Amino acid sequence: MSDSRPPVVRAKGLVKTHYGEGAPAHAVRGVDLSVARGEFVAITGPSGAGKSTLLHLLGGLQRPDEGSIWLDGRCADSFSEARWAVERRRAIGIVFQFFNLVSNLSVVDNVELPALLAGVSPKRAHAECASLLGELGLDGKERSLPGELSGGEQQRVALARALINHPPLLLADEPAGSLDSKGTREVMRLLSRFHERGQSIVLVTHDARLASAADRVISFYDGRIADDAALDGTSSRKPGTSGVLELRD
Ligand code: ADP
Repeated sequence: MSDSRPPVVRAKGLVKTHYGEGAPAHAVRGVDLSVARGEFVAITGPSGAGKSTLLHLLGGLQRPDEGSIWLDGRCADSFSEARWAVERRRAIGIVFQFFNLVSNLSVVDNVELPALLAGVSPKRAHAECASLLGELGLDGKERSLPGELSGGEQQRVALARALINHPPLLLADEPAGSLDSKGTREVMRLLSRFHERGQSIVLVTHDARLASAADRVISFYDGRIADDAALDGTSSRKPGTSGVLELRD
């Protein structure tokens, strides 16, 4: 599934400390990471381990105190906020636990927005949106507002919004964290399906069962990678047989 192109994202020596009230939180304490094209990597570990912070660093939502990030071989150290925003429209899709949809925009408008912002013609944005919504089982919901949808449906809309510009990298931060078991299964199946078609994914989850959908599981603990279990080509686990498909209520 991976190829000879540069890693879709690479990080070296990442450090991030949060200064809030009370003692500083050393969220990321020196992380090296490389994600190949087409890989599905889960980052798992207990609450407070620093997983979300790491994902935010990889998506440019927070800046590291130390270390470097490369996107598709391009060093992002000197990227401005505006440049990161462009990368998040074109090269990196992100889904969050709480969907972050625009509440007063319809499903279609939420999904098309990143395409229109990226300069895609309205006609093409509409076609891409229709195709994604169909694929995600959201036919008939085009004109709904996010608040009229179930959590699972809202997360599927968020997924469509994240993928409409065909970003090489999808970052997912606890995407099932606020869903019931049915919604969780739906979202995880969709992630697996997009991965089977070559989508690179970095999934943050505290749930080891969900992490088993990935083909590489990184255990994160106390701001560091404690274990990095990559399955090589000789593994018997093939796309489409990921553990999540066995999840039951
Ligand atoms: P995880 O995703 O594994 O639960 P986080 O990255 O959210 O871990 O948090 C790691 C540590 O950093 C925790 O101690 C958390 O309280 C702290 N932290 C995260 N974000 C902030 C922030 N914006 N300000 C202050 N502390 C933060």
